[in-house]
Amino acid sequence: MIYDVAIIGGGPSGASAALCSAQKGLKTIIIEKEELPRYKTCGGGFVFRGRKEMPFDISSVVEREFNAVDIILGSKKRSFRTERKSPIVTMIMRDSFDHLMVKKARENDVELLQGEALQKIEPGEIATLTTDREQIRCRFIIAADGALSKTAKLAGWKESRMMCPALEYEIELNDDDLERLSTTARFDINAVPFGYGWSFPKKDHLSIGVGNFSKNKKKPNLKKYFQAYLNTLAIKDIKNSTSHGFIIPISPRKDGFVKKNVFLIGDAAGFADPLTAEGISNAIYSGKLAAHAIAESNMNLEKARVNYDEKLNDKLIPELRTGVEMSKIFYERIKIRDFLLNFYGQRLAEVMTDVFMGNRSYPHDYKKKIREKVGKSIF
Ligand SMILES: Cc1cc2nc3c(=O)[nH]c(=O)nc-3n(C[C@H](O)[C@H](O)[C@H](O)COP(=O)(O)OP(=O)(O)OC[C@H]3O[C@@H](n4cnc5c(N)ncnc54)[C@H](O)[C@@H]3O)c2cc1C
Repeated sequence: MIYDVAIIGGGPSGASAALCSAQKGLKTIIIEKEELPRYKTCGGGFVFRGRKEMPFDISSVVEREFNAVDIILGSKKRSFRTERKSPIVTMIMRDSFDHLMVKKARENDVELLQGEALQKIEPGEIATLTTDREQIRCRFIIAADGALSKTAKLAGWKESRMMCPALEYEIELNDDDLERLSTTARFDINAVPFGYGWSFPKKDHLSIGVGNFSKNKKKPNLKKYFQAYLNTLAIKDIKNSTSHGFIIPISPRKDGFVKKNVFLIGDAAGFADPLTAEGISNAIYSGKLAAHAIAESNMNLEKARVNYDEKLNDKLIPELRTGVEMSKIFYERIKIRDFLLNFYGQRLAEVMTDVFMGNRSYPHDYKKKIREKVGKSIF
């Protein structure tokens, strides 16, 4: 058996690529190292720009939906609420969400090997992939194996993404605290230097986390800031909690997204949003782009490579590049950031929400706009 496409990783990017690839008539297989469903360290906040593009109903795995979000800058006085008619953020748990996506791919004839990790790639027009248990032959490989992407390493990529540490806690509270904190999805800027804290209510618990999103080498002690964040949220009585730490790649790779017949998508490519570290929607989107690029090429590698680059450069890469630049101001030039938020906080929160909703991109002329607001040249 020779597969047209073998996808390494059954997260949102891999499942999305698999579904599109199979729907385009390509013989497709997912290789996933865990048995599904599996826990994935993630806040589970799925923004509307991703949700509105979902090709199937996800209501069975929705924990809560928020048509309003609060962005809080240190104190209540400086907090900004935005509201939209559709849910700005949909809360999911990644075990059931990812499992649903893979099940939908399976319904479209995608094969699944689970509990098997990719170990080796022998390149060639027909590549051979070796897992813990067997060998698979395929024409195209899509690397959807997340931040640590072994596939990218095996295929020769050097590390050029900016990797940011984040901590995620799943916390069970008493009923009063759960009710009090479940009225909103909140982002607390300044809960962590060069980062933010989030409180995302799920059906029966809170997903609370802190992340550091600066390229500053000196990383803050996230555990300490998490404890302080619990005080900010006035949480004293924790019934049960589990903690997970991981990294989020928040800048795209600098040495391209295709090598030989290996295509990178999602976190393996560095496609999480540089400002918010929100990665699910771009993971799903990039999976679609890679599958379409391959399908439209009639299995011609050069055409598929050019096609994927063109699709990425149409929207995603320019947006990520602007995001990388903006995040330097947001997380590293704190005085300017706080000045802007103090005076134009509501307007900026509305822009951010429009990006979450998929109604606009980051403004390419942001430098000019900041110069106008700050009143002097800062660049
Ligand atoms: C603490 C934290 C909080 C976050 N919160 C949010 C949030 O609220 N909203 C949001 O949008 N994003 C969030 N993100 C980012 C988001 O989790 C990622 O951007 C997203 O999961 C990327 O999807 P992916 O499919 O590319 O990779 P992943 O979801 O990481 O999936 C990769 C899959 O590949 C499998 N795999 C790995 N190696 C191998 C191998 N060798 N062989 C076979 N399979 C393999 C893994 O088991 C996994 O199932 C958060 C990340 C972190 C760390």
